[in-house]
Amino acid sequence: MVTSVYITPKAVFYYTKNKPNCKAFARGTCNVASAIDKTCLKDYNYNKRYGQMIVYKNGSALIGDKLVKTDIAANHGRIIEIAPEIVPDEQTEVVDCTARYILPALVDLHTHGANGYDFNTADKEGMKKILEFYISHGVGTVFPTVMTDADEVICRQVALIAELSRDYPEIKGINLEGPFLSSEKCGAMPKQLLQQPSMDKFLTYQRAAEGKIKLITVAPELPNALPFISELNDHKVTVSIGHSNADGDTAQRALKAGAKSFTHWGNAMSQLDRLDLGVAGAGLLSDAFCEIIADGKHVHPDVFRLLYKNKGDKLIGITDSMMATGLGDGDYTLAGTAVTVQNGDAFLKGTTKRAGSTLDAYQGLANTVSMLNLPLNRALNLWTVNPARLVGLSDLVGTIAVGKHADFILFG
Ligand SMILES: [Zn+2]
Repeated sequence: MVTSVYITPKAVFYYTKNKPNCKAFARGTCNVASAIDKTCLKDYNYNKRYGQMIVYKNGSALIGDKLVKTDIAANHGRIIEIAPEIVPDEQTEVVDCTARYILPALVDLHTHGANGYDFNTADKEGMKKILEFYISHGVGTVFPTVMTDADEVICRQVALIAELSRDYPEIKGINLEGPFLSSEKCGAMPKQLLQQPSMDKFLTYQRAAEGKIKLITVAPELPNALPFISELNDHKVTVSIGHSNADGDTAQRALKAGAKSFTHWGNAMSQLDRLDLGVAGAGLLSDAFCEIIADGKHVHPDVFRLLYKNKGDKLIGITDSMMATGLGDGDYTLAGTAVTVQNGDAFLKGTTKRAGSTLDAYQGLANTVSMLNLPLNRALNLWTVNPARLVGLSDLVGTIAVGKHADFILFG
């Protein structure tokens, strides 16, 4: 097991003239900066510590929804004690957290790449570059996302990710976005590689992935999709509805069959009409989770607010990031397809079709704070607790509690 500490530079969240104020933070009245100072990002530090006893001394940790002045002891990457005063023995490493805030590390369940690499095309070294990017942006749990591709490519890439997960415990599952999707709502997916739902085919991917595929997007209107969804459920794979042109009834039947979420809500799905819910409306009406790409571009900030008002704790922040994330504008690829990034917006080259985002999770959290006008501790739920609940990781990550992984963001 590993303890991961994500140390952020001073004043990333509190990039204001006011000094951070613990009480105001806890009340939710603190002026959390809506503007993250991007120049700070390069100063991130990352420490990875194996198998050690560590005590984090004198930090202000977010416990439940309150900031608490406390010590935290971790052993082999798990939190073993949270108490006002923990006295470390000689072998124990001590991390001085005086005047620092300790938050749970972020969870990103839907991301295709960053730092110039893409999970559909990267080799192991390239994938490590993506992982280092996440880690330097506060992500403690990630589901690398492989999109529709040729069978041999999907198998090769999920096998590589499964191998990499032995060195990177941040990888707690693989998200397979395709290939069982609608050609009418394929977005940036290669249309010719889409397939009809097939359990045999899914199990081929799953074997290559050593069982690590934990989340999959399915279009429920495809032939056999509903029994396929319920079988995936039996295999403990979380099904998300997306890249779908289904009517509202079909989307609701998919929920009854066991689907639990909606992939990048509002994007690549049939929309709400006064006479038919569509997939988007079924997402709003249901108790299922909805993913949101929190970049203010894929979903308008006002619609984000509407969605939050409707979904509350069932809303999940995702980046859906592609390889240009962390880099500048220019020409890139998404799963091998040419993409142009202009002003941080990724489009299939020569079109206005979006091809993922260039959002990082840390910026996504900051956007959530500013667009929803929420205190940081509540905005954090979209990036910690809520996604952890969807994929059954609540007992391990998402909050700071005894028994959970000691993955933190330290800042201040
Ligand atoms: Zn995606």
